[in-house]
Amino acid sequence: MTDLPPPSKKKLGLVIDLDTCVGCHACAVACKEWNAGGIAGPLTDERPYGKDPTGVWFNRVHSYEVAATDFARPAFDPGGHAAIGRETAPVSACSGGSSDSLATAAAQPAMTLHFPRSCLHCEEPACVTVCPTGASYKRAEDGIVLVDEDKCIGCKLCSWACPYGAREYSQVEGVMKKCTLCVDRIYNHNLEEAEREPACVQACPTRARHFGDLGDPQSKVSQLVAARGGVDLMPQLGYKPVNQYLPPRARRAGAATSAATAPEPLDTAALSPVLRWLDRVLTR
Ligand code: SF4
Ligand code: SF4
Ligand code: SF4
Repeated sequence: MTDLPPPSKKKLGLVIDLDTCVGCHACAVACKEWNAGGIAGPLTDERPYGKDPTGVWFNRVHSYEVAATDFARPAFDPGGHAAIGRETAPVSACSGGSSDSLATAAAQPAMTLHFPRSCLHCEEPACVTVCPTGASYKRAEDGIVLVDEDKCIGCKLCSWACPYGAREYSQVEGVMKKCTLCVDRIYNHNLEEAEREPACVQACPTRARHFGDLGDPQSKVSQLVAARGGVDLMPQLGYKPVNQYLPPRARRAGAATSAATAPEPLDTAALSPVLRWLDRVLTR
């Protein structure tokens, strides 16, 4: 089994904003593109155009329909409290929480929640300590969790140990793979400094993904987490994920929604002849 290094001061990781993620999969595709040709490549796909495609994706985006609630219960429950029978668990059970998050909200309209999932680069990763060969390891200098594919025997113990489903087994190569936090981008001096960020962060069109040192309380990512009440996933398990998620803000239901969608009256007499003709054609 593999030992962990002493806790690192620097804790590089991602902060993912569930309020602004639109589930476009740009991050997943950019991740695949960068890593397929990088140190972790190839990222093979089997039957990509068939009925049951499988393959290696370091970042997957899951979309959920969250039902409307008209009473106080945690609609966003990253700690899985509802699943373990604590349906009204307060948000303080997680590592953070804000008064405007869905976790503490009462009445909420139904909404779609997009949840990107990749390795969380845990401070105490079970995937490393179960590895019999030392293939899985955590870097002492920045906390990134990696796999040395030359040492991997493909026994899959790490994927059984990871509670977040963040390990990706390559059927073609017979080795385990995972998010590298784009270690070959973030320290790559052949790239412009502005590009030394994970590919998924660079690709996100809504800026829902942020990268930085979560071990430094003054870093932009740490301040963002503090301001928005960022949370760990399933903190009760004790693996101390470094990546943080920002909960979606509360949505408002009711009169404002119907007022916003009410048709606006159009004064066709004030339009130019061409627009009057267009209006007639389009309203047939
Ligand atoms: Fe390991 Fe899973 Fe934590 Fe990543 S999320 S460090 S794979 S336990
Ligand atoms: Fe270690 Fe590889 Fe086995 Fe995972 S699959 S436990 S990384 S040897
Ligand atoms: Fe993929 Fe890099 Fe983002 Fe990890 S940090 S999900 S490897 S693009």
